[in-house]
Amino acid sequence: MRAMSIAPIVQAGTPVLRQRAAELDPARIRTSEIQSLIETMIATMRAAPGVGLAAPQVGVGLRIFVLEDRAELLANLSATEIAERGRVAFGARVFINPTLTLIGDERVGFFEGCLSVNGYAGWVERAAAVEVTGLDEHGALQMWRVSGWPARILQHEFDHLEGALYVDRMRTRSFATAELAKARYGGKSAAEIRALMEIG
Ligand code: ZN
Repeated sequence: MRAMSIAPIVQAGTPVLRQRAAELDPARIRTSEIQSLIETMIATMRAAPGVGLAAPQVGVGLRIFVLEDRAELLANLSATEIAERGRVAFGARVFINPTLTLIGDERVGFFEGCLSVNGYAGWVERAAAVEVTGLDEHGALQMWRVSGWPARILQHEFDHLEGALYVDRMRTRSFATAELAKARYGGKSAAEIRALMEIG
């Protein structure tokens, strides 16, 4: 059995995070090189811990991302936070060469962070629902139409494939260390957070 490896996560300032990632030739999906990359990405995401990781974050400029939300990550959140965000536990999913479509006009704002902007958080408005289509780790076509936190993760990870980071989209004056954002806004409703942000 192959040892599970964890890759270093590259940080903002690394050029690969600002480049459009390349399509992966579907014929390569079943190669040990790509299968190993996917395993490493999932292991790295879990170890961080995080709810998503794109290949550029481990220094690979290919259009691949993984995402997963786990019950143990939800355990630290209040019932209001879970409900408002639409956080739900789901198993690891892999998307290769994805296309992303925003569904409807509803936009929702929340703080989010990024493993490549380690230790910080910012308020980002995103579409409430999306549809993503792409290949899975076996090369099979899959589609996922979803709202709530998975929709936010998908938009965040898709941005990585385009060379974008959440800081490009955030309300810049909300930018805070993750520690201070948690201390100030943790457990509060979106309305309470917005009111707190208004007064600086
Ligand atoms: Zn990220």
